[in-house]
Amino acid sequence: MQIITLGDEILRQKAEKIHIIDDEIINTAKQMLVILKRDKGVGVAGPQIGFLKRIFVIHIEGDEERVFINPSILETSHVTSKYEEGCLSVPGIYANVIRSESIKIQAWNEKGRPFTIEASGLLARVIQHEYDHLEGVIFLDHVPEKKRDKLVAKYEKSQNRDNT
Ligand code: ZN
Repeated sequence: MQIITLGDEILRQKAEKIHIIDDEIINTAKQMLVILKRDKGVGVAGPQIGFLKRIFVIHIEGDEERVFINPSILETSHVTSKYEEGCLSVPGIYANVIRSESIKIQAWNEKGRPFTIEASGLLARVIQHEYDHLEGVIFLDHVPEKKRDKLVAKYEKSQNRDNT
């Protein structure tokens, strides 16, 4: 399963709600966790594998594997933090992004059970990054325009180099 990269319109579309957590969804979640391990990522969202549904998975080293289906962010802290992010869909590009330091989120897991968690630090950051993917937003959208243009140009240059 390939990761869709920047430039593909799929990454800009809004993902659809999942109505039934069936075998297809469960298997997709499992495959997404395998992709994370393979590509050494901490999170991946449905649209990144061309699956335009509201699902993402997160696996931060030292933490459990987490599946979020139909997530809703209930609260975001006014306190923010800045941290360098990357994305499997924009390989080789990193940028500082300001996000809420902590959040409260409600979702369903792969067993079809609803849960609510309060997360802070890296987990809160990764959740916000992955949630953005469900809305067609990528981390570079949070970077000031001039800086973003430079990074996108750098990315495009690196892609052309890989193709020739
Ligand atoms: Zn990403």
